[in-house]
Amino acid sequence: MRIAFLILLFIVGTCFGSFLCCQARRLRLKETKKKSLGSRSVCLSCGYKLRWYDNIPILSWVFLRGKCRKCHKKIGLTEILSELGVGLAFFSIGTTIDFTANYSLFSILSIIFLFLLVLTLSFLAIYDGTYGELPSLFLIISLILAVLTVVFNEWGINPGFDNLPERIFPILSSVAILGGLYLVLYLISKGKWVGDGDWILGVIIGIVLGEPWLALITLFLANILACLIMLPYVKKSRNKKIYFGPFLIIAFIITLTFANFFQSMIK
Ligand SMILES: [Zn+2]
Repeated sequence: MRIAFLILLFIVGTCFGSFLCCQARRLRLKETKKKSLGSRSVCLSCGYKLRWYDNIPILSWVFLRGKCRKCHKKIGLTEILSELGVGLAFFSIGTTIDFTANYSLFSILSIIFLFLLVLTLSFLAIYDGTYGELPSLFLIISLILAVLTVVFNEWGINPGFDNLPERIFPILSSVAILGGLYLVLYLISKGKWVGDGDWILGVIIGIVLGEPWLALITLFLANILACLIMLPYVKKSRNKKIYFGPFLIIAFIITLTFANFFQSMIK
């Protein structure tokens, strides 16, 4: 039952990944060329209208070997990475749900907000990873979803916010660690090393993690991932800016998934 639910979450996630990847392209075209792609999915090279069987997440990509059915131009890695990424994110967050627990309505709503947040963050990761920008509208939506997730979660655990005085300090220090570092880097480098969206993303992730040591683990993971994956590119190109967005978001999902495990190691 549990494994079936997790597999279903993975499949739903891959569909969302495919959808978000398309939406990222649409938004970019709209903002840069003021052009619309129309309502159907098309090949960006030849305009071939994709059929339903060309749009099955992961499977279509594998069967067509990442190429357009008609013109055989490469579709690119973004599609398959988005589908796999969101699928895995849904699966990972799903593993933190305890099926035997008796969740209150507030806790269930908090879980729903968390999944919605994973979606908007995935969109930001795809957009930042492809175009090196974090659209501010999606940062604002993510910030609202992050606050809702935490408020409903805290209320679910402790109705009436009795424990709020004890929770304020850990949440604020988590926000200060993740948002603060990127804000300092942004101000020192005048936006040359990190973008202005990165520190807002740090604040959003800091709110949800709500513990300073979880924030530190996320920061550590994000920087290790960024170094391993980005360094070869940064050396080659003259642009010294590192797009931290996708790495911060991946590190956030990993930290959230293993939060209980990390907690048991520390305490
Ligand atoms: Zn084509």
